[in-house]
Amino acid sequence: MPALPPATSAPAPAHALPSYLNAEQLGPWGIYLTQIDRVTPYLGTLGKWVETLKRPKRALIVDVPIHLDDGTVAHFEGYRVQHNISRGPGKGGVRFHQDVTLSEVMALAAWMSIKNAAVGVPYGGAKGGIRVDPRQLSEGELQRLTRRYTSEIGLIIGPTKDIPAPDVNTNEKIMAWMMDTYSVNQGITATGVVTGKPITLGGSLGRREATGRGVFTVGVAAAQRINLPVPGARVAVQGFGNVGGIAARLFAEAGARIVAVQDHGGSLCNDQGLDVPALLQHVAHTGSVAGFAGGDAMTAAEFWAAPCDILIPAALEGQITEANARHIQARLVIEGANGPTTPAADDILHDRGVLVVPDVIANAGGVTVSYFEWVQDFSSFFWSEEEINQRLVRIMQDAFSAVWEVAQQHQVSLRTAAYIVACTRILQARDLRGLYP
Ligand code: GLU
Repeated sequence: MPALPPATSAPAPAHALPSYLNAEQLGPWGIYLTQIDRVTPYLGTLGKWVETLKRPKRALIVDVPIHLDDGTVAHFEGYRVQHNISRGPGKGGVRFHQDVTLSEVMALAAWMSIKNAAVGVPYGGAKGGIRVDPRQLSEGELQRLTRRYTSEIGLIIGPTKDIPAPDVNTNEKIMAWMMDTYSVNQGITATGVVTGKPITLGGSLGRREATGRGVFTVGVAAAQRINLPVPGARVAVQGFGNVGGIAARLFAEAGARIVAVQDHGGSLCNDQGLDVPALLQHVAHTGSVAGFAGGDAMTAAEFWAAPCDILIPAALEGQITEANARHIQARLVIEGANGPTTPAADDILHDRGVLVVPDVIANAGGVTVSYFEWVQDFSSFFWSEEEINQRLVRIMQDAFSAVWEVAQQHQVSLRTAAYIVACTRILQARDLRGLYP
């Protein structure tokens, strides 16, 4: 395999930690490799296949040229990585963000492999992305970008090959364009090529809220295990989009107080609890929590040290680091984002007795309802929202309980336990299928 790109382009700062724990140096892919190293001793004879998990099955880099509204042509770099397809087709979102890199998408694809196996949906792991700040594009430019990117990755996606979905800065509208572009290119109507679509195009009821609902469901299950009552609990949320915003709403409805929030625009606090419906409306109108009248502005450092019982990082990876992990007041961290905690921070939180529910369980609600959507599209038979939410809650609770048992049995963190469950399933599939030729 050719040399992989460096995990991050940023120069490595001088650091006291061993290099394998230095997230700044390793980036998301390095964090993922560290997580695999930590689970390897628990894989028994399946460990002979572990190398499979340390490299993506395939990675496609595409040039995405589009006409801008002023008539000039701009080129963007896009990716689709299929990390593992041993258990089923590739599955995972597409992210539009100015910081997207190949190594980041590799890590996100790998985390999808682990997540899908941890909750038992019959998929491998994949992820895509375009390095672009979508806020700088007009609606027309965004549509042309989405359609050209879909055509370019059309080589490797498909309803039985690899099924994209929303992720950071992508939504139902973008999924509709992706579905249409793939369908037009194939001369068919292929609803099952993407999930997270509008309802009228074969989307599923409950999909939009599913990730946040899953975060809430496992959060409640985890809180019970540590005797933390949710009514009255103080919750801090980083990221107030589709994941953090919905999770905050559900926690508030269950009687918790949302005392601190942070997003790309700033940080806010209110010890009495923020008015979540009003804040959601403010974010829908202004694009950020900043400037909301019902809370006081605070610094990013103050956000991480905010007095709270539950912390939900629901933004981007690498947010809980060695620098802020010692200041976190929460007893419970529920990872709504993918990869928000570095391995060094994981260790600090573990040593301090903070329970971390890892991303690969905590935010699996989205892909779980994506799976329901894909099944509904194939059968052309659609379920009620009640049925979807019931099935979602059952899968999330069962997955959490199974991981909790493994953590108790081996005396390891929930993250390592989730990796034991997931890697065992993936590598059993690898082992049963064997190598061809
Ligand atoms: N982007 C979401 C995730 O990271 C959902 C992926 C999907 O539904 O395929 O889990």
